[in-house]
Amino acid sequence: MSDSWKVHKFGGSSVADAACMARVAAILEADPAPSLAVVLSAARGVTDALLNLIAAAERQEDVEQGLEAVRNRHVDMATELCDPHAASEFIHELDADCRDIASILHGVRLTRAASGKTRDLVAGFGEIWSTKLFARHLGGRGKRKAVQWVDAREIVQVAWNALGPSVQWESSRARAAGLRGHDHPATLVITGYIARDPKGLQTTLGRNGSDFSASIFADLLDATEICIWTDVDGVLSADPRRVPDATVIDSLSYHEAMELAYFGAKVIHPQTMAPAVEKRIPIWIRNTFAPDKPGTLICESPVSSHAVKGITSIERIALVNVEGAGMIGVPGTAERLFGALRDEGVSVILISQGSSEHSICFAVPEADSALTERTVRQAFDTELRQGQIQNVDLVSGCSILSVVGDGMAGTPGIAAAVFGALAGAGVNIRAIAQGSSERNISAVIDERQSTRALRAVHARFYLSPHTVSIGLIGPGTVGGVLLEQLASQRERLLRDFHLDLRVRGILTSKRMLLSDTSLTMSDWRATASSGQPADIVAFEEHIHAEHIPHTVILDCSASSTVADQYPRWLGKGIHIATPNKKANSGALDLYTRVVEARRAAGSHYLYEATVGAGLPIIVTLRDLRETGDEIKRIEGIFSGTLAYLFNVWDGTQPFSTVVRDAKAKGFTEPDPRDDLSGMDVARKLVILGREMGLQLELADVALEGLIPPALATCPPEEFMNRLGELDAPMLARLHSAQKSGRVLRYVAALDAASRKASVGLVELERSHPFANINLTDNIVQFVTSRYHQNPLVVQGPGAGPAVTAGGVFADLLRVCAYLGAKL
Ligand code: ADP
Ligand code: ASP
Ligand code: MG
Repeated sequence: MSDSWKVHKFGGSSVADAACMARVAAILEADPAPSLAVVLSAARGVTDALLNLIAAAERQEDVEQGLEAVRNRHVDMATELCDPHAASEFIHELDADCRDIASILHGVRLTRAASGKTRDLVAGFGEIWSTKLFARHLGGRGKRKAVQWVDAREIVQVAWNALGPSVQWESSRARAAGLRGHDHPATLVITGYIARDPKGLQTTLGRNGSDFSASIFADLLDATEICIWTDVDGVLSADPRRVPDATVIDSLSYHEAMELAYFGAKVIHPQTMAPAVEKRIPIWIRNTFAPDKPGTLICESPVSSHAVKGITSIERIALVNVEGAGMIGVPGTAERLFGALRDEGVSVILISQGSSEHSICFAVPEADSALTERTVRQAFDTELRQGQIQNVDLVSGCSILSVVGDGMAGTPGIAAAVFGALAGAGVNIRAIAQGSSERNISAVIDERQSTRALRAVHARFYLSPHTVSIGLIGPGTVGGVLLEQLASQRERLLRDFHLDLRVRGILTSKRMLLSDTSLTMSDWRATASSGQPADIVAFEEHIHAEHIPHTVILDCSASSTVADQYPRWLGKGIHIATPNKKANSGALDLYTRVVEARRAAGSHYLYEATVGAGLPIIVTLRDLRETGDEIKRIEGIFSGTLAYLFNVWDGTQPFSTVVRDAKAKGFTEPDPRDDLSGMDVARKLVILGREMGLQLELADVALEGLIPPALATCPPEEFMNRLGELDAPMLARLHSAQKSGRVLRYVAALDAASRKASVGLVELERSHPFANINLTDNIVQFVTSRYHQNPLVVQGPGAGPAVTAGGVFADLLRVCAYLGAKL
């Protein structure tokens, strides 16, 4: 007698057609185990097709063609896989079955109703056909010993109850004894899905029940191993159709697998595990289409370093909240509630009760929502009328997201990470449940955010990269360099930090280029004159894609129209990193709305590059304030252009020559008045002032510009021609400084106590730090409570496309770190 059995189960996708069946046969032939029990599903789609025929008959629709199609599919497979004799034998049986089905369908059409039994009977033919056909094929190949077709209805007996099918082990085992009595190795080809009920009538094990069949037979045969073959490489860390980056889990405990299956991982049926767990039979999940891959091992004590194994979701859920002071401390309330639902056959998927007992919240399938609401209202009719229960509130369109892993028990911070990831992706949580086993954390969320949520949490646990959808506005000098920097670092960030930065759109004032994947500067150049007309709302909608957890807009424009959008973007959870000064130095009202929107939505708004390009000026100021230091005074040279002009100009040549020279070197704006007006410096001072907590407006800054009123509004070329008009007044200022041994510098200063803000030319001692900076350096000096005798100074190159773009890039990475990326 052969007493060592191994069970193989092939799902519908593995036996979908003749080529698939031949592949299955080859897999079995490669298995050295002498005795195999091979459980098969129906060919893909056949069970659905049969059930659809019943539904169509109930609607009195024509069913002949549909039945013919199912028949022909099997005829084709038989013709291809079996010798003519075996094929015609099979077709003969198939036709007899089809005649039976046709008469059943005829009856259903007349009565317009099918009983559960009728449905079970018809649905089960798929497995009968797939196995009969396959047994003939495998037998015909002649490599496996003693191939025998087994009708599971002759062996497995189940009784259906509220929890589903329950196996009658004693009678089933007695019937199975015959199977085990072989003296020689055998290969049993067994129908999945179907069984007999206690009256001996055909029943099923429920949808996807063939997995269950496999473990029932493993138990009955005392098998040493179960192998479930499907069309993916194993149990994945998430549904691959929702999370394309899902990875194969190498091993899972029975509990983990059960939990994943219960919460929606379709790859394995939750009940499957029960008999296997009981007998500690290891289960492998493997890919029929890639039999070389190892697959996933589900066993008693797997070895794995991951605390979180997988993330699943169940869709089409309704969340019910029963609320009322009358429930506090009243024993048996929950039992009454759930008892009533059980009596109505409603399955409650998740329960969460606050410790105050003031409310009970639970989730049911959306299809049961009307029944649920009615049942709860009836059960608490008196309490509702007397006001002890105020409300029965039902929200549909929800989804349950579950994070599963044995290692979560006793690992602090997992829940925080889950909820942090959800918050970071702007996902609203309606209810939370954590089983006392701590193997599962579940959150009820809005169904529309479910894919986004799955991806964010999946990425958070390093099961897949953090994907960030990026929109870049203004691919000009700074924006262009930033695009190049992003493209050059993309691979490294992905490889080293699992950070997937995707520039999915580029926008100028006139046109835009959108992509579902990722754009680079060369894509942008290549489409120099194409792309679509600019539409900032369409741009925003594309970038803020539902399925990508995080969105960041990099605004490299200097546009106030773009800045006007910030409150809306931040309010929607879009993060912003920008060198654009307009929002922070424009109307106080816009700034206030930006700050409020950011706070309310928890989004991130970073603008380090608005002052001193890549220099850490704003971050320093913020660190000082947040740690309780008091900023008394900020002073400095905030313009690289003006720094350069006064560093270089010693009066030996006209001031206009130095300006022209600087313009030629690219150190000034195209119209140097933008620098000489001092407006840019004033804006930076306002930005820092607001960062200090002062309600400062541009108008509050005493601004001394360097442009005479007569030249303020003329066209740029005329201004350049008349630049010499600046020379005499500037020289007078310089001489006055030089007389007392001093130098001229263009300085911005802000005093917190007096709120006095000024920007203009000042005379400084030669030893002053501001008199000793290099070329286009910026310098900022903070006088604070802590740094009062010797101020804190930040100094360095504060202008230029590369350092400015670098500053914005650093802000972008900071946002990613806030969102959970481990940089
Ligand atoms: P079969 O036909 O083999 O029974 P199913 O279609 O019932 O296969 O289940 C396999 C499918 O389950 C896979 O193709 C995959 O798309 C889906 N699936 C959902 N969640 C997961 C997961 N966590 N791991 C693996 N597959 C999953
Ligand atoms: N054929 C059945 C179904 O489609 C059982 C199975 O495939 O597991 O539900
Ligand atoms: Mg299945």
